Amino acid sequence: MTASAEKFTRQTLTDVQPLTPSLFTLRTTRDPGFRFVAGQFARLGVTKADGSVVWRAYSMVSSPHDEFLEFFSIVVPGGEFTSELSRLQIGDSLLIERQAVGYLTLDRFIDGRDLWMLSTGTGVAPFLSILQDFEVWEKFERIILVYSVREGRELAYQALIEGLAQRDYLAEHAHKLQLINTVTREAYPGALNGRITQLIENGELEHAAGLALSPEHSRVMICGNPQMIDDTRALLKTRDLRLSLARRPGQVAVENYW
Ligand code: FAD
Repeated sequence: MTASAEKFTRQTLTDVQPLTPSLFTLRTTRDPGFRFVAGQFARLGVTKADGSVVWRAYSMVSSPHDEFLEFFSIVVPGGEFTSELSRLQIGDSLLIERQAVGYLTLDRFIDGRDLWMLSTGTGVAPFLSILQDFEVWEKFERIILVYSVREGRELAYQALIEGLAQRDYLAEHAHKLQLINTVTREAYPGALNGRITQLIENGELEHAAGLALSPEHSRVMICGNPQMIDDTRALLKTRDLRLSLARRPGQVAVENYW
């Protein structure tokens, strides 16, 4: 099969940054034909020593207008894919499927005033892409990024998030964004302490945002740990916030990472 007929392209790693022993970011070249909508994911492939290729879904962190692609990855102990991925170095190649997919995108919502983006761990990735694209800033009056991790040192991309306000094209909208970090296993300066579900139940999240979660104004995207997503969806349902479907627009969109 010729390269152009294959479902994937071969890209080169241009940067790898470890954050903790089990978290790292990687940047690759981007095929000029690779298109995606902020919030989508691509399947990445790594070649194992025996020549076989393992594929896994990864959300893009970078924005659709960046010339490179960036990803944020966990290292799962003994994980088939991440054991290989975490060994790659600058100059190595990564396979990337040509077709980006996924529905954690802004077109899931036909209206809404406040966008809540709830994430655990690497689930923050699609929200970083959405925040680096312009549409969200025009579409919503308030944007609340909730980022939940176990330990404070796992809070990635803080400089990028804080730096959004300095980007020329966002200057007039930057006041709309509020970052709420929450750390579950330790008290951490500047962060709330607790799981997203606890913080919704006890009202701390809405208090920190200075906003109520309501079907009229709130649109909620949730990404990461499937248990967190199920529990949060159940909680939001009691507040009349429901999954947005093509046949029935709603207030909630989700992406399970496993
Ligand atoms: P697997 O055998 O795939 O997973 C083993 C176990 O590890 C899982 O059962 C789960 O308990 C745990 N696990 C898997 N992924 C994670 C994770 N991200 N955080 C915490 N625990 C995890 N992973 C990323 O790191 N970054 C991404 O941007 C990302 N985007 C994804 C987008 C989609 C749509 C989906 C479905 C998954 C995404 N994942 C992402 C998860 C990723 O596809 C793999 O599961 C992950 O790379 C682990 O692969 P593995 O073969 O090493 O372990």
